[in-house]
Amino acid sequence: MKNKNNYDYLLSDLTKLNGVGKKTMEILKKKKVNTIFDLLWRLPKSYTDRTLVSKICDLLVDKIQTIRIVPLKYQFPRVRNLPSRVNCEDESGKIDCIFFHSYEGYVRKILPLNQEVTISGKITSYKGRYQITNPTYVSQDSSLIETVHNKYSLTEGITEKNYNKIINQILKNLPILNEWHDKEILNKFENESWNAAIVKLHDPTNIENYKASFYKRLAYDEILASFLVNSEIRKKIKKIKKTSKKFTESSHNEIVNKLNFKLTKDQNKSLIDINNDLNSNSKMFRLLQGDVGSGKTIVALISALSVVRSNFQVALMAPTEILARQHYTLAKKLFPENISIELLSSKSDNIDKKRIINDLKTNKVKMVFGTHAIFQKKIIFANLGYIIIDEQHKFGVRQRKLLSDKGGDNCDVLLMSATPIPRTLTMSVYGDMDISIIREKPNNRKEIKTYSKLESKIDDVIKFVKKEIDEESQVFWVCPLIEESKKLDHQSAVKKYEFLNKIFPNKVALLHGKIENEEKEKILNKFLNKEYSILVSTTIIEVGIDFPNANVIIIENANKFGLSQLHQLRGRVGRGDKQASCILMFKSNLSVNAKKRINILKNSNDGFEISEEDMKLRGFGDLLGFKQSGAKNFKLADPIQNEDLFILAEKQIRKIELENISIKKYKSLLKLYDQADIINDIV
Ligand code: ADP
Ligand code: MG
Repeated sequence: MKNKNNYDYLLSDLTKLNGVGKKTMEILKKKKVNTIFDLLWRLPKSYTDRTLVSKICDLLVDKIQTIRIVPLKYQFPRVRNLPSRVNCEDESGKIDCIFFHSYEGYVRKILPLNQEVTISGKITSYKGRYQITNPTYVSQDSSLIETVHNKYSLTEGITEKNYNKIINQILKNLPILNEWHDKEILNKFENESWNAAIVKLHDPTNIENYKASFYKRLAYDEILASFLVNSEIRKKIKKIKKTSKKFTESSHNEIVNKLNFKLTKDQNKSLIDINNDLNSNSKMFRLLQGDVGSGKTIVALISALSVVRSNFQVALMAPTEILARQHYTLAKKLFPENISIELLSSKSDNIDKKRIINDLKTNKVKMVFGTHAIFQKKIIFANLGYIIIDEQHKFGVRQRKLLSDKGGDNCDVLLMSATPIPRTLTMSVYGDMDISIIREKPNNRKEIKTYSKLESKIDDVIKFVKKEIDEESQVFWVCPLIEESKKLDHQSAVKKYEFLNKIFPNKVALLHGKIENEEKEKILNKFLNKEYSILVSTTIIEVGIDFPNANVIIIENANKFGLSQLHQLRGRVGRGDKQASCILMFKSNLSVNAKKRINILKNSNDGFEISEEDMKLRGFGDLLGFKQSGAKNFKLADPIQNEDLFILAEKQIRKIELENISIKKYKSLLKLYDQADIINDIV
């Protein structure tokens, strides 16, 4: 059975395994376990020593123990929801088995009277009598229970015993894979081979042994695999040849001369990166990363004009129409009048749409703004040379790859994102792209004053809001996000709207997830036109929209949000010249930990710094947008605990890229860890 270097066994489905029937397979499929390899990544959570069989008189309370007993009498309740009770004994004493939520028939079946059974579970004591409530194991066959059990989290429908059997079978049949790491690297992990490490991973005594070499080796495998895939995609895209774009400084100056501010150093540096890419013979695939308000749009528009000047068309895609419109309006102001640009909106009438589509085809329109609708099949560009995508942090590697393919080889791609992520994660999230970062904020920006307030002090907040409204400011009022219930979510916003509307009649607008997109845009536009002073909403307003007149943001139940998210919400205000404020409201006094979090926010306006702190406090899985980002979810590797491994992997990737090392030797690693289609054309 042992097949040298053959990973097929690991990637095959579960039919290969003895003792896995249709039912088991279905249960596992629901848990996203499709291959033998998948099974290996379900780690034991704990283990229980059930070998010990005590006599009732020797039982220890509050411990999991295994005993043999004889059921003597049933006591079924007359009232539903009360537990059933079975009096049992052995020669040394008495014990009651208690069953909550169990049918009478079930209890009779597993505990037939006067027959010895083995039973295992946590022992408690009530009024001097031993009890065992909903025992974990009941069986007439004591050999099924009395061993050390690995506990996996998915035993529903599969017994622990059977599950352990399956795992042991796999461990015994692991193929011997050729080592993919260099000696030098392997040394760092005490030369632990993949096979040995996997076996140790499933050894119950190794549970949570995060610091052990075998564990680190496996975590490193995982990190390296993800980095490698990204790096290969990047290399591949870079190899695509294109016609270089030729333009002069003048297009840059045409826009800059119209601005009433100077570009920051980072904006200029990003423009140099982008221009170099545009001028080169290889396709650009670049991320422009910068905190909310760091000024990415202007960088995008300057580069867009350069591309237009080099006789190519440009498409800018935004997540919503309102954002697309804002970019379009800004471009209208900044671009020379004789350059035809258009907004493709679902609201434009059909005649207009037809005209725009036709003008794109004939190269009359040079730049188009819109949502993903600009990539519909019926829209054909005469000479598309540049795609700019704003605020798409939710795109994963695969979606981005598709995008980079769009528009053909001659088409450069720039993605913009305001989601700062911790350094260690950059390679795994964005490793397929080149990156330009705008860290420095425009220096006219005033710091947003951040306060925390108890909900009981709402009168103070109202007073403050009144004052701000009298000074013509506008206010965002963000309502608590109740994850468990969309309905409640919307109710809390409605309630707050009604409450505020009484105090500020006709000055309050309401937005929540149940409002249709079109209506939503109407409301947002009215708010932008200052027809309302307060906008009550859930968190549905996307980052990116410029509300120059909004100066105050109030965030209720602020402890429901992560730091990064609070920072992004806060970034919706403070774009104008007035002093902006952010009030974080809390239901009750803050814990020491919560205070720490709030202080981080009060003391820093740097999204990157905040994201690092956020990750340390909450783990990376909860970072804003991270779950949906399509970024790989590591099973073992932890960006906080294993920072050193992330750095090591990054070094290795640089080495592979610099020395042009073939990644063929990593074939099994890549096949196993990233079963994406992308791999097929890499190795
Ligand atoms: P984001 O990076 O979040 O997309 P924007 O591009 O929307 O930020 O810019 C936010 C605001 O900052 C805009 O009103 C823009 O005009 C302004 N801005 C951009 N760059 C500068 C700068 N160098 N100095 C001053 N203000 C700037
Ligand atoms: Mg933006």
